[in-house]
Amino acid sequence: MTGGVGGSVIEVEGVSFSYGSTLALDGLSIEVPRGISFGLVGPNGAGKSTLIRLMVGLIGPQRGRVRVLGEPPRKVTGLVGYMPQLSALYNELSVWENVDFFARIYGLSQRGKRMECVEECVRLVGLWERRRDQILKLSGGMRQRVSLACGMVHRPRLLVLDEPTVGLDPELRVAFWEHFRKLTSEGVTLVVSSHTMDDAAHCDRLAFLRAGRVVAEGAPNELVASTGLAGATLEEAFLYFLRRGGAGG
Ligand code: ADP
Repeated sequence: MTGGVGGSVIEVEGVSFSYGSTLALDGLSIEVPRGISFGLVGPNGAGKSTLIRLMVGLIGPQRGRVRVLGEPPRKVTGLVGYMPQLSALYNELSVWENVDFFARIYGLSQRGKRMECVEECVRLVGLWERRRDQILKLSGGMRQRVSLACGMVHRPRLLVLDEPTVGLDPELRVAFWEHFRKLTSEGVTLVVSSHTMDDAAHCDRLAFLRAGRVVAEGAPNELVASTGLAGATLEEAFLYFLRRGGAGG
């Protein structure tokens, strides 16, 4: 059974993960409720990508427990969409062929439905005019947009995006967030990693990460308010919690 339990789509409990002697996650716990956008925000090296790889089942925790839709992540990969930081596209294939390929992998076998999903995603990422071009002819930002289309073509219940808006111009960033809000209003859950406040401010809920730990968690306005700093911005709140988190260890 893959139904979300108790409203939580993701449960991460006391998870640690090391690469050799580098501790990337240090007993981290997070719960992501259904139908919201949840931002993992932290500086480079904070552990965001490692946490995301655990959530999509690419790696397993060395300590602790991860559940997605109530199951170990590897059991529910068909219900999860994932956009990695590094593109996994086929350079010789066109934009359309790449998105169509991922749609097939994700099990969209009925042609009419698949075409509809592929078209929707290719249009969303603003590449309809370039749909017949090979990936190798596209810029880095465009490739990233194709990756996003590939990750969400099967209309997953959980969408996990590792720094999705890096390299996007402001107009497209706004279009992406409008689409993300539409998805969450339909009950889709979104996990987004970022090191910028531009994305963080759009999220319903945030976890600030530092050195493999959560140093603060809450809605953006709650996080700002809880600093007690008059007129603080989200960025100032982020820095406040990073420094405070650092003081303890
Ligand atoms: P973030 O996504 O927040 O930048 P990462 O999860 O990529 O953080 O990295 C957390 C820590 O783990 C960093 O110290 C990083 O250098 C290390 N790390 C990440 N991936 C690897 C890897 N494949 N091999 C060795 N160390 C890694």
